[in-house]
Amino acid sequence: MPSLIRIPTRPAELGGGMWVRRALPTRQQRMVGAWCFLDHAGPVEFAADQGMHVGAHPHIGLQTFTWMIEGELVHHDSLGNEQIIRPGQINLMTAGHGIAHTEDSLHPGQRLHAAQLWIALPPEHQDCAPGFAHYPELPQWQQNDATLTLLAGRYGDAVAPTELFSPLFGLDITSRRQAAIELTLNPDFEYALLPLTGSARVYGESIPADEFAYLGQGRDRLSLEVAADSKILLLGGEAFAEPVLMWWNFIGFDKARIAQAQAHWEAGDARFGPVPGQRTRLSAPPLPWSGV
Ligand code: MN
Repeated sequence: MPSLIRIPTRPAELGGGMWVRRALPTRQQRMVGAWCFLDHAGPVEFAADQGMHVGAHPHIGLQTFTWMIEGELVHHDSLGNEQIIRPGQINLMTAGHGIAHTEDSLHPGQRLHAAQLWIALPPEHQDCAPGFAHYPELPQWQQNDATLTLLAGRYGDAVAPTELFSPLFGLDITSRRQAAIELTLNPDFEYALLPLTGSARVYGESIPADEFAYLGQGRDRLSLEVAADSKILLLGGEAFAEPVLMWWNFIGFDKARIAQAQAHWEAGDARFGPVPGQRTRLSAPPLPWSGV
């Protein structure tokens, strides 16, 4: 059985002075299944007239997955979708061939706490039609003193409604009191967990908030001791078969595809339409390689 790998998250700036803790990708661990990006945003307090405002920017080859914990954001995209997301809800945007979107705080000065994940689309779906879905309710149950919410995949008879393209698992474990949690795992999946608040004791090690613990694969059970006032994100999935190329907001399997997306965005190509109500439009940085 592999021992767990403890990976510190690192601070990353989203722009506009908004800082997050990034857990994926890292040098030690690029992905967990098809989960390829994990930012823990907040909890952040804003000044009375401030909030999060991410200008229009494009994506290809991935799904963006927002798990809202506190506060409210409004999403707009180039397909014309407008959606408010509230605590306990998921926004899932499938970029596929191409989409652009904005995210803004709904109320200035409101506290914000969220996890933002990306899921790599497998090669046969990387160029699919873009789409957007909002999931206001998710399967939820109690174990001891904790509330478990299924974000992705299945657990026992529970099936998360989130429409994904790879075998994946996502579970939120929230507890006000200290709680012992026993979970059944799929030995074919690799798993990792990130305490968003509080801490979790797993395989004899205490993992504090914002430390990422990669658990590997081949396990069929997980025993967690969750500290009081904890919120733990547990991710899993079948190890992704293809090496993924990730640059800026694009995911692909070759440089030419990413270079083309960058050129299309910078040229204002119709591939990425305008986002209704957009106030700013983010510029793609120059490609980090030459001679494509
Ligand atoms: Mn985005």
